[in-house]
Amino acid sequence: MGMGTLARTEVGAEGPSELVEAIVYGRASQDRHLLMRSIDDQVTECEAWCRPLGWHVARVIKDANRSASQWRRREREGFEEALSLIDSGRYRGFVTWEPSRAGRDLAVYVQLRAACQRAGVLYLTHGRVYDLSRSDDSFMMGFEFLRAEADANTMRERQLRTVRLNAEKGRPHGRLCYGYRRVYDERTGTLLRQEPDPRTGQIVKDAARDVLAGASLWSVAMALQDAGEPTPMRPWSESPRGWDTYTIRQVLQNPTIAGKRVYRGEVIGDAAWEPLISWEDFQKLQRLFADPARRTKGGGGTPAKTLMVHIARCHSCGRPLRRATMRRKDKADAVKYRCGFRGCYKTTISQPGLDAYVEEVALSWFEQPANLARLTATDGEGWLTQAHAAEEELASLQKRLDEAADHYAAGELALSTLTRIERELRPKVERAQRALVPPITDEHVRALVTAGDVRTAWAKLALAEQRRIIKALFDVRIQQTANRGQNEFEPERVLITPRV
Ligand SMILES: [Zn+2]
Repeated sequence: MGMGTLARTEVGAEGPSELVEAIVYGRASQDRHLLMRSIDDQVTECEAWCRPLGWHVARVIKDANRSASQWRRREREGFEEALSLIDSGRYRGFVTWEPSRAGRDLAVYVQLRAACQRAGVLYLTHGRVYDLSRSDDSFMMGFEFLRAEADANTMRERQLRTVRLNAEKGRPHGRLCYGYRRVYDERTGTLLRQEPDPRTGQIVKDAARDVLAGASLWSVAMALQDAGEPTPMRPWSESPRGWDTYTIRQVLQNPTIAGKRVYRGEVIGDAAWEPLISWEDFQKLQRLFADPARRTKGGGGTPAKTLMVHIARCHSCGRPLRRATMRRKDKADAVKYRCGFRGCYKTTISQPGLDAYVEEVALSWFEQPANLARLTATDGEGWLTQAHAAEEELASLQKRLDEAADHYAAGELALSTLTRIERELRPKVERAQRALVPPITDEHVRALVTAGDVRTAWAKLALAEQRRIIKALFDVRIQQTANRGQNEFEPERVLITPRV
């Protein structure tokens, strides 16, 4: 195949003859290697090719931060626009910096060639004009696209291999762990190392120290919320809702902060980066989080004083309500449950009112034979088994989310696909979290619900045990009130959902 016989026109080989109105199409891709050109650089170079040819750049279309690979075909809206402009017949030239900027598979080429042939549009790329109505030019360009397609496939295989290799070598890949930053080579853009971020790294260290010293997760979260500190990026959360106990837990439960390498949800060895906290402290924190007693405290480490404190949740933001005493003129103080989250503060409800109401609903529910059967049906390790199953389910869902995020970071998954996966998994994660109840001994629940007089049996229980049972069996959410400043208890605002 004699390359010399191909009739391609070198830029500058011909003088300007007639004015060609041209479309320039630029696209950036996410690979950070030397071969990558910014869109603006591409457009500048394309314009420079057009000038000596007498082509006038009438339209510039940019597809920012999108890969041209066939694996992301759905995101080529700029290219679709370019094709329809070619079809409009108003232009005579189409310019891209290199053929793969238009797309990395043959199907794209077939589309482009058909459009150019139909409208008599010349294709300028790599500084050369191709007339796709000529068979030799058409063949050469087809060959270029074939090669680009093969390159894209090779690149994808290489990326997959790199992810696996990096995981084995303890090098970072995928989502960046909160507390760290990544350092890239300025010239080549390749990853040099992952190291503690001076600011967020210190936040992780401080949070771990404070929690180990007995501070509540809530107080640590609120200090960060008050300081206006940005929350860790969670790609699947549609609207980050600020720091809360969950966020702090997530940060402190990631083995990455102890210098451990995690692959597919499992610790697979020491990592190449500096730990923020010792492995010993990390394990202490995990034991602390696993302690069920911690979860029925009244907040701030003190025992709860009322039934629903930290169990009832704000329907608006989902956070547990705290107890607050309101001083009133010429009247007794009013004790309320209130959403204490800065940025919400939306829900307040009478404490004696809510406690009495939930207690009544719960007791009537226990008294119904159908519910009794449901509660006693789980024999032996019933409750523990259920909580354990929920925990496993949660771990596997989390793993799938992490994997999807890793694939996205490695460039194997489109953002739209990642978002879709996350939208599908999120509700399942939340369901599993709801099912993850604090360990509650079967005997207590069974003794209660099988007692001849449930109400008397309930009254004999300690507050802490009543709280465990309520928390384990019911999801209680409080809606906002329509009439602010009113003190009457409004039962219609209370949403109680049995968990079984
Ligand atoms: Zn709230």
